Amino acid sequence: MAAHHEKKNSEERNHKSTQNDTGMSQVQWGRAWEVDWFSLASILFLLMFAPLIVYYFIMSCDQYQCSLTDPLIDLLMGKEHLSDIWNRTPPLTYKAAGIYTLWVAFQVVLYAFLPDICHKFIPGYVGGVQEGAVTPAGVVNKYEINGLQAWLITHMLWFANTFYFHWFSPTIIFDNWIPLLWCANILGYAVSTFAMIKGYFFPTNAKDCKFTGNFFYDYMMGIEFNPRVGKWFDFKLFFNGRPGIVAWTLINLSYAAKQQELYGQVTNSMILVNVLQGIYVLDFFWNEAWYLKTIDICHDHFGWYLGWGDCVWLPYLYTLQGLYLVYHPVQLGTANALGILVLGLIGYYIFRETNHQKDLFRRTDGNCKIWGKKPEYIECSYMSVDGTKYYSKLMTSGFWGWARHFNYTGDLMGSLAYCLTCGFEHLLPYFYIVYMTILLTHRCLRDEHRCSSKYGKDWKCYTSAVPYRLLPGLL
Ligand code: NDP
Repeated sequence: MAAHHEKKNSEERNHKSTQNDTGMSQVQWGRAWEVDWFSLASILFLLMFAPLIVYYFIMSCDQYQCSLTDPLIDLLMGKEHLSDIWNRTPPLTYKAAGIYTLWVAFQVVLYAFLPDICHKFIPGYVGGVQEGAVTPAGVVNKYEINGLQAWLITHMLWFANTFYFHWFSPTIIFDNWIPLLWCANILGYAVSTFAMIKGYFFPTNAKDCKFTGNFFYDYMMGIEFNPRVGKWFDFKLFFNGRPGIVAWTLINLSYAAKQQELYGQVTNSMILVNVLQGIYVLDFFWNEAWYLKTIDICHDHFGWYLGWGDCVWLPYLYTLQGLYLVYHPVQLGTANALGILVLGLIGYYIFRETNHQKDLFRRTDGNCKIWGKKPEYIECSYMSVDGTKYYSKLMTSGFWGWARHFNYTGDLMGSLAYCLTCGFEHLLPYFYIVYMTILLTHRCLRDEHRCSSKYGKDWKCYTSAVPYRLLPGLL
């Protein structure tokens, strides 16, 4: 809706591109056209090492009780060879291939063939056909928002199976975790490669494609902005949300079931991980329409970074706390458990409220109340590639007046809470907070760079009005 409004404004005011005082730089918004050596080095590093990092973490749990240092020490001391570790690693199995194929096919069916009905009877939920933001080529895509419905159906079936039908064991995911890793990798690489070929030969919207001329950069960061098959099967929306995020809560449930099987009980730390991450996942699907306006959908092209990342990195590394707790069942004292719960809930509140404030502000074009008052903002303008001038607003009220990315601060507090459930015996569960800190700091810089080239001097006015990025007065 906001995009529609911006376009309408632009038509009404109909300025010429030459009137835009930031000139051609504004046409360059979106992902980079040129690749600097640092980006190229980072991309090559990730392409080579990200799959190994995932393998190393999962193997450490499988073979070394989640110790990250023991495999290295054994290798350095000559007690083990790489081939020993590899030979003990479970291979791809027909069973895992069957489970994974069924899983992805089921999610495709829920996504592509089951229009949303949840928005018709759940008050306040925004689902069904929704518009995305305006793309650099000036296109406004329509999306079928039915993620909440897919999540609910999948979880109802999971619980029906666990407590009534018993078709399969609820530990099925844990029991096939490494064979499933090979399947997820096959899908991740297949979809990224397909997206690259599609970008060259049959793009959905040629004007929204970017070619840097560097094969590795294009493969990693994507060529097409919104690759689609048919009218509705949008790669970004499907792979970002499902199969990875729908699976997240099922993976955690499978870990809880494994604890029950191994120890006869589920620890309070495992319950906390399930509850806090469950809230985060449910929030994602409840707000899927809002998600259309976030960086992943609005600005990132679809390549290996999203394709492989959503298939492998997210389900395997975002769920490390639950995996760790299967091997090390931590029972927290009441005070610690409560402290972690409060930290997680405050983090979630900040994350949600900050995102909500921006969404409300953008949806109503500033005609709303933030903390009981009319919001303050900075007027700004930008241009799409065809030279059409658009107008937008950057809010300086509410949490957006405290810091430019206070939503990231809330996200980081929640991430820390997940990690703390695991105690302090091992490093592995803390990977998540380290990773999120790097990811969100990098996002801050990436987003600000993009906004600066999109809005030019208007962005400078905004950063003067809101000088801090994450923590008011500090950072
Ligand atoms: P934001 O939701 O912060 O979106 C940034 C965009 O919002 C900017 O590019 C700009 O877009 C617009 N904007 C910036 N400042 C303002 C303002 N003051 N007023 C109005 N609009 C503004 O970022 P993300 O999309 O990265 O993140 C969304 C959420 O998702 C965050 O809470 C983040 O923590 C979470 N997240 C979680 C991840 C995970 O793996 N768990 C990964 C990534 C994100 P425009 O061009 O429209 O002006």
